[in-house]
Amino acid sequence: MKRILVTGGGGFVGSHLCERLLREGNQVVCLDDFYTGSKQNISSFIGNSDFKLVECDVRVPFNEETVDEIYHLACPASPIHYQENAVKTLETSVLGSINVLKLAHKCNAKVLLTSTSEVYGNSMVHPQDESYWGNVNPIGIRSCYDEGKRCSETLFSDYHRQYGVRTKIVRIFNTYGPRMQCDDGRVISNFIIQALQNRSITLYGNGKQTRSFQYVDDLIEGLIRMMQTDDSVSFPVNIGNTHEVTMVDLAEKIKLLTGSHSAMTFCDALEDDPIRRKPDISLARKILNWQPTVQLDEGLKRTIDYFREQLNK
Ligand code: UDP
Repeated sequence: MKRILVTGGGGFVGSHLCERLLREGNQVVCLDDFYTGSKQNISSFIGNSDFKLVECDVRVPFNEETVDEIYHLACPASPIHYQENAVKTLETSVLGSINVLKLAHKCNAKVLLTSTSEVYGNSMVHPQDESYWGNVNPIGIRSCYDEGKRCSETLFSDYHRQYGVRTKIVRIFNTYGPRMQCDDGRVISNFIIQALQNRSITLYGNGKQTRSFQYVDDLIEGLIRMMQTDDSVSFPVNIGNTHEVTMVDLAEKIKLLTGSHSAMTFCDALEDDPIRRKPDISLARKILNWQPTVQLDEGLKRTIDYFREQLNK
């Protein structure tokens, strides 16, 4: 049995990860300040003797006597939430990563950073592979997240080089699924809720920008496989789905799957919104023997069921 710390364990992805780790017989310590996470996500684990909740802001140093592995997820990830308090977001990435790395160093634990496709910024290469250094605006409204995560990657790389900490970096591409918050603000939750309520679907800009969406279960499998790699794997690995869609096509699909009568409204484009995004996952296929298994239609159906239930509550 391993003792595993999940920072951001109360969030959308974190709670799925805690659930999987508990199911596999591990002890899980979940650290969260519930800034964007929710107690509802982890309510079914409370009372489980293998589950410990530490309600704490990852920017504040914290201690655990022993942990074998750390999954470092804590950070708001939706543009509206990470921009709401940009300084907090940046501090979360920088100070949070330092706190986590110090604990990993002390405990000789393996530590995995959930980085992001945002490190590629408004990419000039397509699809994005890990060798690309990115095209990121350092002073824009998305920078607190993009540059914060880039700095986290630097910290992980330097703690590995300088102190021999066993670090892992995963670059997560757009992910969706049950337990996203209704007010999450990201595109899939927005479109599904708007469609279910027959309200206008809000397309930002001309809706021709693309994303490639992975279902949360595929991501969790990728994270677990990454943690199991040998210590030489300290370089970043993309985890995402390669099926690329425009936002207009996504809206049409969601309308169809929900049987919605929603109209589509074209709103102002967002500042620095990346135009195209699609991962090259050759490295994950090779190193992790991993690839996504849930098709967009299937994942959307499951997510629509979840939001339908939430709205009925
Ligand atoms: N988007 C949109 N309508 C919405 C929310 C998002 O058209 O109600 C677009 C947004 O402009 C972006 C894409 O959907 O191009 C994905 O946005 P999201 O916030 O989900 O994630 P991002 O990949 O930008 O971090």
